[in-house]
Formats: sequence, C-alpha cells, structure tokens
Amino acid sequence: MAKANYDAIVVGAGFGGSSCAAILARRGLNVLLLEKNSRAGGKAMSLSKSGFTYTAWVVIAAPVIGNLIENLLQELGLQDRVKVVAPPNPDSIYLNSSGNYVSMPQMAPGEMDPNKVFDWLEVEEDERAEALRLFVDLTTMTPQDIDRLHDVSLNEWFSRYTVPKGLYGFLVSLCCDGMFMVPVDALAASEGIRTLQDVLLRSGGLFCQGGWGRVPEVFAQSVEEDGSRVLMRTRVERINASHGRVTGVVTNKGVFEAPIVISNAGIQPTVLKLVGEEHFDPSYVNYVKDLVPSWGMMGMRYFLNGKVTDAPYGVIFSPDTPWSLERYIKARAGLGPKEGVVYFEAPSNYDPSAAPTGKHVLLTGFWCPPDPQLTEKEKKEWSQRGEDIVFKAFPDLPGRIESKEGYSTRDVCVLTRDQVLPGQGGECIGLGQIVGQCARYKPAAKAPLQGLFYVGCDAGGYGVGIHQATDSGINVANMALRYHRLHTGMRVSPLQGVPSAKGAR
Ligand SMILES: Cc1cc2nc3c(=O)[nH]c(=O)nc-3n(C[C@H](O)[C@H](O)[C@H](O)COP(=O)(O)OP(=O)(O)OC[C@H]3O[C@@H](n4cnc5c(N)ncnc54)[C@H](O)[C@@H]3O)c2cc1C
Repeated sequence: MAKANYDAIVVGAGFGGSSCAAILARRGLNVLLLEKNSRAGGKAMSLSKSGFTYTAWVVIAAPVIGNLIENLLQELGLQDRVKVVAPPNPDSIYLNSSGNYVSMPQMAPGEMDPNKVFDWLEVEEDERAEALRLFVDLTTMTPQDIDRLHDVSLNEWFSRYTVPKGLYGFLVSLCCDGMFMVPVDALAASEGIRTLQDVLLRSGGLFCQGGWGRVPEVFAQSVEEDGSRVLMRTRVERINASHGRVTGVVTNKGVFEAPIVISNAGIQPTVLKLVGEEHFDPSYVNYVKDLVPSWGMMGMRYFLNGKVTDAPYGVIFSPDTPWSLERYIKARAGLGPKEGVVYFEAPSNYDPSAAPTGKHVLLTGFWCPPDPQLTEKEKKEWSQRGEDIVFKAFPDLPGRIESKEGYSTRDVCVLTRDQVLPGQGGECIGLGQIVGQCARYKPAAKAPLQGLFYVGCDAGGYGVGIHQATDSGINVANMALRYHRLHTGMRVSPLQGVPSAKGAR
C-alpha cells in the first residue's frame, strides 16, 4: 500500500475542498487532494454528453459583483482558464390571479422602477408604500442589526410587515426557496438578510461556460502545478485518528499520512463514518446527528431540437408556491400540494459550447425531500408536479424534446456525500441554513479532534451554494495555515494577497 507524508490532506474536490487545497498549495504546503469521482466539482460538477456540456443541474451563482469565486480565481492567477458570464435578460415568470404565466417586465440597464414590479405582481396601490418600506429596511439593514437576528426566522421578520401575496411569492419563491433550500419559517433571518442584500444590491445570475464544474477542475490543476498532488477516483474510506489527533487517511489506493485532514465530505459523514463516533465526545456526536440538512432538488435535463425560451435562466412561481414547514410536512405525507417554485437554466442561451449547432439543452429543478431513498412513486409525484408547471409555462417544450433524463436526490448523494443518517445524503446545499445552524451557530470548521477541519457548505462560510462553499474554502485554508504554522513553526507566506513561497503566477 502506498504511504506518503503530506502537510495536509483534503478529502473531496467540491468547491470547498478544491478552493481550500489550491490556496494551501499556493501558500507552499505539501497538499494531497483526494476525490472519489473522476472529475472535480461535487454538487456542481460539469457533465458532457453527445456534444452537450452543462452543469449537472440548475446552478445559478450569486452575487455577481464581488463574487468570491472570481476573486479567488484572480488571486491565484487562474482567471483566464474559465469564462464566467452574467448573461442579461433572465425570465421570472409569475402565474397571476387570472391563471396566466406573465414574465417580469424588462427594464433598461440601471433602471429599477418598483411600480413596474408591483404591477406585475398585482400589488394594489395602497399596499405599495408598505412594500417599499420592507425593501428599504431589508437592503439597508446594518451588520449590527443583522447580527441581532440569529434566533429569528426570516418569516418572523417578514411578519413585521403587511406583505401582499404576489410580493410574498416573489420574495420567498424567487429569492429564498431556491437560494437556501429550507422553508422560510426555518431559515435564519440573519443568514437570509445578509445573503438577500448581496443578491438585491450586487445582483445574481452568474454562470461558467462549460458548466460550474470547470472552476473546481481548474483549482485542482492549480494544486498540481504548485507541486502538490491530486488523486482522482480515490475514495477515502477512513480518516485515521490516534490519541486525540488525526494522522492521515485510508483510501482504496492506499494509506496517506498528514497531521491535518480537511474534509469536504460533509460533517455528518466525516464524524459518523470516516473518523468514527468513538473518537469524539458523545455530546458532540449527538450534536452532529441532530443537525438538519437542506432540502433536496430534483428535475430534468431536456435535450431539444429547438429553443423554447431566449432566457438564459429564470424561475416560475405563483402566490401558492412559497414553501413553509407545515406545507412541506403535509406535502411529504401526501396530504397537500407539491407545487413549488421551478428553476430553469438554458446553458445553450449563454454558452456557445453547451450544445451542437441547432440543438439546445434546458435544465429544470424543483424542491423535494433530501432523502436519497425516495421510492419511484415518491420521485414521480415530486417531479411530475414540476414538469406540469414547466410544460404550462413553455407550451412548445413537449414538441421539441429529442430526449430527456431526470435526476434525483439519489444521484446527488451518489455523486457527493454518503448517507449516514435516515433522510440525509441527497441535500442540495449542505447543512440547512436554519435558525440554530448558521451564522453564530454554524458548526465550527475546526473539529474537536486535533488537525481535523470541515470545509464546504457545512462549516466556515455563508451565502448561496457554491459561493458559500468557496467562502468556506478561503476561511478554512487560512485556519489550516495558522494551525500548520503554529504546530510546525515553519515560515509560510502571509495569508492574503501576497505571492506564495513558490511564487505566484
Ligand atoms: C440540484 C442542485 C442544484 C443546485 N443549485 C444551486 C444554485 O443554483 N446555486 C448555487 O450556488 N448552488 C446550488 N447548488 C448547491 C451547490 O452546488 C453546493 O452547495 C456546493 O457545490 C457544495 O459544495 P461543497 O464543497 O460544500 O461540497 P460538495 O459539492 O458536496 O463536494 C464534496 C466533494 O467531496 C467528495 N467526497 C465526498 N466523500 C468523499 C470520500 N469519502 N472520498 C473522496 N471524496 C469524497 C465528493 O465526491 C465531492 O466531489 C445546487 C446543488 C444541487 C444538488
């Protein structure tokens, strides 16, 4: 069995693991990045098939201005290897009270006329002043005031205002449900408002040509170019620990040693399976078992012989689509409608390489439980409702389909994190950004075992999906560097914006 010594081993090349490994390697550490799949990317992996190239499912990044993914690519000198684009003219489609699917009015660049939005959302004249008050309070809240809202759900905060139904659908379905994948009455107001400010003030809708998985692939290349090592198709079966500290990992390709192990495999799989409960205090194990994942997303990939929309991406929603915990529990039990917001992305409308000439690809996504063990019947029920809505909003779609394939929480689980608890494994984001689990209450990225860190959406970051995972990658790299420096006394280069020991490109 192969045996080697590294400064740090990173388990998993999702956005969190790959960004963290790239920073550590650039700062001069000898890093081993291990990934069980043949491609980096995890929950945002790129797929290629019959001339089509796209992210595995709808992945819309935010914010556009000041995005950390682009900042990090720039800092590592990798910005020319991927093309990140913010395509104009997305389509938000509202099912109004007359039963018509109506697109959000187009506005000139820089124009923001709230009355046009209120007309579209059927907000009455006498409701508009209150609606504006909500928007102003939301977008101008100070970090200090946001910091007081860790124990409050975003829905409790919304309830301080009289929110018209159409506007509530817009705020919750369009802005919250898909960004956080937890019901708004569970979503922590502090996390929700901080992230909504990012999106409302710095815009949303960023994509990568070739699919978002190109970015973690480039981070992994950078690890190798900086003299460290990447092993794909290498599954970590165990993280070794002895006398209260990690010592390395056991994989299908051998045993590797390092005093630091950074896991992108999810906090629950890491503690309960890879390290093992016996290495932690029972109260910590109970805490980890009690953490709640985000909800799941399933949907379709349609391969088309013609366009059904010119929009690069968008959402379809109505006053009835916002999820609440109660509505979800009823829907899960088969006692209520499974109707929710539908997200769609048409990569071939912003990326010339996404489809062969004359062909198009359309991805859709809708809420479902995160359970990877959903029965075929349950999967059909959750996905059928979503497809019904898509077919109504795009009546030409059924006639343009050459082939289609569904994806579900089982696919997400197989591609990314192991199931170690009932109902967990197929989550969309990672841990749910709910009251008691994020911001001040987010699990610490440094585990109570010397040398063990978690990276990715479960710890160390905030915000929307891949942006959150990258925020974590940057923060955890800095934590691990500090740990390495303190424990080895070795001199490494300063943490921010300074050429590495091996010289920045
Ligand atoms: C259907 C769907 C839609 C989404 N839509 C959006 C969106 O619109 N916008 C957005 O920003 N985000 C979206 N997300 C969420 C986003 O993709 C994730 O939050 C983010 O990619 C998670 O990154 P991560 O680094 O935390 O972990 P992951 O992506 O889960 O990466 C973990 C990596 O670790 C590897 N790994 C796990 N265990 C092992 C092991 N034992 N050995 C070796 N390797 C291992 C996995 O293979 C994987 O590559 C979506 C996700 C899904 C599933």
